[in-house]
Amino acid sequence: MDPWRAVDSRLVLVGRLPLSSLPRLRGSLVEATGDARFRLAFFRDEAQRALLRCEVVATLKLRCQRCLEALDHKVSTDTLLALVLSVDEERHLPEPYDPLPVSNEPIRPGDLIEDELLLALPQIPMHEPTLCVRQLPDVDVARMQSGEASPFRVLAELKRRG
Ligand SMILES: [Zn+2]
Repeated sequence: MDPWRAVDSRLVLVGRLPLSSLPRLRGSLVEATGDARFRLAFFRDEAQRALLRCEVVATLKLRCQRCLEALDHKVSTDTLLALVLSVDEERHLPEPYDPLPVSNEPIRPGDLIEDELLLALPQIPMHEPTLCVRQLPDVDVARMQSGEASPFRVLAELKRRG
């Protein structure tokens, strides 16, 4: 689609996209089941800046890096993108806009949605500590809480012996 024409006609796209149809995302998923729900709204602000509001909701099946079981990572994005033609334009973009570099080439809505989801991936997926199958050993937790392992205590001990 032509993004500039979409802006001028204030196009709004609402729909669902199967996660299995997003090749760059698929490699990060345990299984690519379910859909991403999206709403893409093109418009201009008071300064006549060409904008795209991109909202994406999905549940991604990721692998917990602590216990290696699957976990549901809920994503809900709401990003305000400004269409920019040059690096210079991108540099002068005011808050809270994120740049969406475009040329006069058509854009694919699926790519935008996939980008949103890729940006929402955690660096190291992990369950909440209380929900993870693999718990921290109790001994370590107890030591940390009692302050037994504090380096200052070790230092004080060494000085006493000194
Ligand atoms: Zn886990």
